[in-house]
Amino acid sequence: MPKDTSKDYYLKVWRYVEYVRRTCKKGNYPAVVVVCGINTLKQEGKSGEFLRRYRSVNGSCNPHLVGALSNLAPLEHKWIDPSRKEHTIGTCAENDAADKILSHVSAVRLNALHFSEAYRPRTRRVVKYCEVCKRTFGL
Ligand SMILES: [Zn+2]
Repeated sequence: MPKDTSKDYYLKVWRYVEYVRRTCKKGNYPAVVVVCGINTLKQEGKSGEFLRRYRSVNGSCNPHLVGALSNLAPLEHKWIDPSRKEHTIGTCAENDAADKILSHVSAVRLNALHFSEAYRPRTRRVVKYCEVCKRTFGL
């Protein structure tokens, strides 16, 4: 049950949406934010951040997660899903949040990670998980 709609997850992602709206310049919001967790551990993530970290500090991202994403296409490359939608591998907020969790608890299956619903801070609306995330995390 990786999609976690419990109150804890909802409140944490909602607070993060509001935090982003308060602290980022308008027009500079991350496209999407999400919360990932396991047991009592929870971390926020924002889109673009995982790839930024991947590019800036070599080897700083969890190799298991990098490996799972690379099954579709190399990181930063395009992948076209069966419904012909194009994705850049690694951009999703889910990767940032999951990577932070995996830096604390590395011996965990990716499909055991819980995720809040993903939100677009600009509109405060829920964003559906993409095909890359569905395949990577079993969402
Ligand atoms: Zn995604």
